Amino acid sequence: MDGAIAPQAAAPEAATSGTGCHGGRETMVAAARAAGKSEALDRMMADYPRGPHDQPQSMCPAFGSLRVGLRMRRTATILSGSACCVYGLTFTSHFYGAKRTVGYVPFNSETLVKGQLFEDIRAAVYETAKPADYDCVVVINLCVPTASGVPLDRLPKQIDGVRVIGIDVPGFGVPTHAEAKDVLAGAMLRYARLEAETGPVARPRMALPDEPTVTLLAELFPADPVGIAALLKPMGMALGTQVPTREWRDLYAALDCSVVAAVHPFYTASVREFHAAGRPVVGSGPVGVDGTAAWLDAVGRAGNIAAERIDVAKAKALPAIRAALEANPINARITVSGYEGSELLVARLLMEAGAEVPYVGTACPRTEWSDADREWLQARGTHVQYRASLEQDCAAMQDVRPDLAVGTTPLVQKAKELGIPALYFTNMVSARPLFGAAGAGSLAGIVAAQTRGRERYGRMVDFFTNVGTGEATGYGWQGVPQDHPQAKERFRKMRAAKVKAESAVGT
Ligand code: SF4
Repeated sequence: MDGAIAPQAAAPEAATSGTGCHGGRETMVAAARAAGKSEALDRMMADYPRGPHDQPQSMCPAFGSLRVGLRMRRTATILSGSACCVYGLTFTSHFYGAKRTVGYVPFNSETLVKGQLFEDIRAAVYETAKPADYDCVVVINLCVPTASGVPLDRLPKQIDGVRVIGIDVPGFGVPTHAEAKDVLAGAMLRYARLEAETGPVARPRMALPDEPTVTLLAELFPADPVGIAALLKPMGMALGTQVPTREWRDLYAALDCSVVAAVHPFYTASVREFHAAGRPVVGSGPVGVDGTAAWLDAVGRAGNIAAERIDVAKAKALPAIRAALEANPINARITVSGYEGSELLVARLLMEAGAEVPYVGTACPRTEWSDADREWLQARGTHVQYRASLEQDCAAMQDVRPDLAVGTTPLVQKAKELGIPALYFTNMVSARPLFGAAGAGSLAGIVAAQTRGRERYGRMVDFFTNVGTGEATGYGWQGVPQDHPQAKERFRKMRAAKVKAESAVGT
């Protein structure tokens, strides 16, 4: 055990009232600042600039951090937050096949207000940090503990050689689950970089290639890293590690690379660590002919590869990609929306295959790592919307009336109501390759299958016309449900009277 226990300041009332997502961003931010989290919040605001909406519009952002921890070997991940948040996050992680225990330190108003929660977390970390079981214990503060100032930075940095990493991942400071992956990946890279700077570190489990390596900053479909390795080989480069990594010791290999490829453009904190380690970082990814040519140029230049060798790599890769695109043309107008960070890359690939893509919306922020993709798309007339809200995505879809809308779950639902064929973005990208020749031929089949159904969607809309919409949807025993505005008005007045009575009691 290390020395004295650092006391936690009493939590502000606004943070302990159990409001969470629904408390309002400004209320929670003010509470967090009052509780001493200003520095952490300022860092989040700089790394993950806000969008037009007040709250995340996808799943709880903390899922990104949780998932990174759960996918790593010998890593324990512990949540500190409201039980409802932890229930949702645990459910989602097991829905996605985590097969790992999610740790939880519960609290109640008293343990939170009196600062006991920090002591409970500390005790849980000591209980968990057994070197025989773990390399690392991660503790994630969700909204209420962050707003209450639970000081995870005062946890011991290591216990018997087991690293301890505490991070704040509140929904009012980290807008998407994509960026939450970066919060943990960046914290781990920082820890590993400081370890490597002070002494020898463990070798990765797998044999290291002799060639200079490229670290991929992205979670990809399993076939994609294999394809990217084949693209790099003629340049005399090899594929290194992917970040987020699957094991602690892989972090050292990731840092010890020649070039970092920020294929997903939202890893701001991770890029900061690679820069601190003196590694060059390139953006975009090897999609289609243009994208692959530009990416090989950028990676080769950053890795000090001779121009002739880069040309050899391009001459080997590009004809096969061109042939795959020509063999799998896409003839459709498509809108693309999502929160994964690869939306611009998918749009590029669709367009190179022949699709018209008038709109791309991504919940992720604009960073320099997607500049090349943005410029390529805008030069061809595509509107690129960073930090896109659901409302913007839906408005673009209704405006454009595409043959296929690729998007998030609520967008797909809206599209189907309108009789527009639609596809969930994650299903489109997570089950097929995107890069190199394999990626070039992979999207045509699914686009064709979906757009073929357009006429069927039209019939469905006709069939369900006149069965009511919204709260009056469906058939009752005696006919279509009717709207009752007078009942709504009665309840509105009752609610207003209740609020007035409550505020009178409070004064
Ligand atoms: S932790 Fe997630 S689910 Fe819980 S209040 Fe925050 S954003 Fe909402």
